[in-house]
Amino acid sequence: MATGDEEKRAVDEATFREANERIRATERRLEPPLERVPYLCECDEVRCHEPIRLTADEYERVREDGATFLIVPGHSTAGDVIAQHDRYVVVRKQGDGGEVARALDPRKEDS
Ligand SMILES: [Zn+2]
Repeated sequence: MATGDEEKRAVDEATFREANERIRATERRLEPPLERVPYLCECDEVRCHEPIRLTADEYERVREDGATFLIVPGHSTAGDVIAQHDRYVVVRKQGDGGEVARALDPRKEDS
């Protein structure tokens, strides 16, 4: 099993998620709010900065699960595609990658 690799990918993707959480926090203070906010693709390519425009509802749905990430269609990531939309896909990480992703979830309530 290439566990180390999976974990590293999950850590990289969690970094993008943190950036997106800051974007979300900023967006909450906008008056009037934007209809669609440019979030960052959370794929495992660390140089990827491709924006994905989502409504607040769309973004919140991805964040409900600590192991799911927001990806530009066709970008590289490990995991199962659980939802496919025109502008983005939602990928859930499995195994060690999923565990790391959940452990790093900025929204998790325990500990
Ligand atoms: Zn990407």
